[in-house]
Amino acid sequence: MSSQLTAYITLFSTSGVINLYLCMYVFLRRHQYTNIAYYFIFYTAAISIYCFGSALGLTSTTLEQLKFWNVILYIGMPISAPLGLLFAMKYLGMKLKAAWVLPLLSISVISFVMVATNDFHHLHYRVFEIDPDLGAPFVIQEIGSWYMIHGIFTFASMFVAFFLMLSRWRETAKVYRAQLLFLLIGQFVPMVTAFIYLLGLTPPGIDPVPMVLWFTSLLYVWSINSTRMFSIMPIAKDAIFNSINDGVIVLDESHRLIEFNQAYKSMFPSIHKSMYGMDFKQVWIGLTGEVFPLKLDSAGITNEVQLKAEEVPYIYQVRISPLQHANNRKGLLLIFTEVTELKRLQLELENRAYYDELTQIYNRRAFFEKCEHEFNVAQQTASPYSIILMDVDYFKKVNDTFGHDVGDQLLKHVVHVCQQQLKEEILFARYGGEEFVIGLNNCTGAEAEAVANQLRLQLESKPLLMNDAAISVTISCGVAETGEGAKETLHQLLKKADQALYAAKRQGRNQVQMYAENAS
Ligand code: GH3
Ligand code: MG
Ligand code: MG
Repeated sequence: MSSQLTAYITLFSTSGVINLYLCMYVFLRRHQYTNIAYYFIFYTAAISIYCFGSALGLTSTTLEQLKFWNVILYIGMPISAPLGLLFAMKYLGMKLKAAWVLPLLSISVISFVMVATNDFHHLHYRVFEIDPDLGAPFVIQEIGSWYMIHGIFTFASMFVAFFLMLSRWRETAKVYRAQLLFLLIGQFVPMVTAFIYLLGLTPPGIDPVPMVLWFTSLLYVWSINSTRMFSIMPIAKDAIFNSINDGVIVLDESHRLIEFNQAYKSMFPSIHKSMYGMDFKQVWIGLTGEVFPLKLDSAGITNEVQLKAEEVPYIYQVRISPLQHANNRKGLLLIFTEVTELKRLQLELENRAYYDELTQIYNRRAFFEKCEHEFNVAQQTASPYSIILMDVDYFKKVNDTFGHDVGDQLLKHVVHVCQQQLKEEILFARYGGEEFVIGLNNCTGAEAEAVANQLRLQLESKPLLMNDAAISVTISCGVAETGEGAKETLHQLLKKADQALYAAKRQGRNQVQMYAENAS
């Protein structure tokens, strides 16, 4: 064996050993590393097979042996380029989708099958013979049509990986640049070597790529240990931008669309990169069919946007912040957070806090809040204010006779009948159990008494009709007024109404009593 051949075999094997070492090293530590380590493990394993296959091929003395080792090296070689690409993409924080990862890898599998079965179809090599001048293990080959596809695919994978990483150079923080540089060299060196080989400028009969792979592998070893590749990665801006759950829009100084993220696309699927450069207000109309309701110069303000076109209106909270571009021109950042569900819950909570669950009128707490306000205004403007306290007569009997559910129905019925008589703006609330309260703004005691009697008569004439039974209902009311210019508190007024109600009950129920100073 010539010394030149020994040198080749040594170089090929060295590349294989270093790659195998890398593969094992990362494999054993894979649990400490980020998930890009897996891509690296497969990548280095494929390169190891490629290098060892090539080294052993150089020990061949017959064409059969050459073909055998060529098939072996093809287990690793074709797949190493796309694996390198996947590794680079993962490293840059890009999402990998099975829909195109699998076809990508399957091309490599086809290449392997093509080489293994080449004698039958000669699609990969039209000619694959021992070089008549140099002898085994040197080969002369003429490439077939599948070899072309395989070659273009391999180059393209390396090219794309290289340029993807290069395109991130500027936005990569300085501390990570060494890491990125080594990865770039790791792609560049074999890519250029393969290119020179294809041009026929390397020693004949031998694939020189495994010869340089030891060098790129050493760079990886250094990178893993000194720059902590796999433990710390430069998470590129794109990855962050797209992993934000809020929809983000970037506009230039003239409010034209520059960028949107993945979350925004999920919120408004019809947005498309072809809309870049369009005025945002036009984009918004295109997306929603509505006019964008916020002023774009209201930077720093958080506002809400409601999309009414939908059956259930979507509500977005929009934060607008100014952006300073590198060349000092101002742009805008719009952050959209969907708050539809939050708003619904907020409304539900408000409802629960203010409305009585059974009758859906104001509860006692809401009554006090609203009445306090009305009453204070009446006091300040020296206008009369009256209260009707209303209690269902013998309600306990209804519960006892017909059951609690029917009791509930009766309470709803009482509210319904009263609502039909009362104007919407009148404060009507459930005061407790089967007791209700009505606050009458700008209303004298006599007027309130008339209202109470009207309600009483209406209820008396409208029993609750249920399952053929008519459950009659009567109420007793106590009425009290704060006359024009009189000074008292709401609490005192309610106390007077309560005393009047007590009097109505005592005097036989189904009646309205006006509070009288000297009564009780
Ligand atoms: P009076 O004529 O003196 O007012 O007699 P009453 O039976 O109406 O008064 P009492 O205060 O003795 O009874 C009120 C009953 O109302 C007692 C309570 O169990 C019932 N009650 C309170 N809240 C509800 C409710 O939400 N649903 C039903 N079904 N019953 C209720
Ligand atoms: Mg009662
Ligand atoms: Mg009562």
